[in-house]
Amino acid sequence: MNVIKKPRKPSIKLRQLEAILRRLNTNHPRRKDVEEDFFKARAGYKGEQQLDYDLSFLRDHEFLILSDLRLPHQDKYFQLDSLLISPTFFLHIDAKHLSGKIDIDHNLGQMKRTKSNNVEDAYSDPTLQIKRHELQLREWMQVNKHPLLPFESLVVFTHPNAYVKISDGHPHMRRIIKNSLVTEKINELQKKFHHALFSKKELQRISRQLIKQHTPPWEDLLSKYRINTDDILTGVICPECRVTPMIRMHSKWLCHNTSCNFSNRKCHLAALTDYALIFGPSITNPQLRKFLHIPSVYTANRILTSLKYLYAGEGPHRVYHLPLE
Ligand SMILES: [Zn+2]
Repeated sequence: MNVIKKPRKPSIKLRQLEAILRRLNTNHPRRKDVEEDFFKARAGYKGEQQLDYDLSFLRDHEFLILSDLRLPHQDKYFQLDSLLISPTFFLHIDAKHLSGKIDIDHNLGQMKRTKSNNVEDAYSDPTLQIKRHELQLREWMQVNKHPLLPFESLVVFTHPNAYVKISDGHPHMRRIIKNSLVTEKINELQKKFHHALFSKKELQRISRQLIKQHTPPWEDLLSKYRINTDDILTGVICPECRVTPMIRMHSKWLCHNTSCNFSNRKCHLAALTDYALIFGPSITNPQLRKFLHIPSVYTANRILTSLKYLYAGEGPHRVYHLPLE
């Protein structure tokens, strides 16, 4: 039986883009760029979910499945969509959720996607990326003193409307497949590697270490899209009618929309998650008051204390760590 050790959740990037769109004026000049990247990230997530669904049909395997790992490597990070570890071999799968005609050319190291309206997009040959990740994971295993074992990687095209063409003589042709073949391909690999190199206990240990070293990314997207901090809408958004800001009264959040009047104690949590996604995973008392529209230092303090966040420093400069996951 396969065990999912690290289930998939929407990526931090996707959630960051969502949070910015939630809090950016509809006619903001930079909104289009954010939307475009949001749709790309959402398609990527759909592809990964499709892959998870296909992998759920794997039978008679002893894989531990880890989704969306981002691991430190030589002052940088590398990201793995899906890592399947078993006593006999490791398998990394990179999902590509692109529709249209896809041409992969190893001579040029490129991939071209032609959409139904004949618009073309260029990417690099995805096998170059999986080879690089393979090398990085091998080095990671070495640094963390795990024995080396057979390692395979696959590029899986997950979109039902992807027509993939691979250049003749592509050296990694067998690593590129459509998602409908993924279980067959894994069964085939399983036959190739039948010598168990790890005990189940060792596998658990590696999986624990992989999860421990997983570092969710946070990127300053406001600078990337050249969006002013002041352009981000502040305040608690009403979860029922989206009217902003909700007002804090007697330890509760109240929607001032008279046809809604929703109230709840915990509405600030979603706002603080938005804050962490947009501005980064830390906040001070004055920043919290400004973002949640709370005039009182004491109320803000009470909220911060009740959340039991880790903190550093003293007084108004105390910085609280906001968790991203
Ligand atoms: Zn409301």
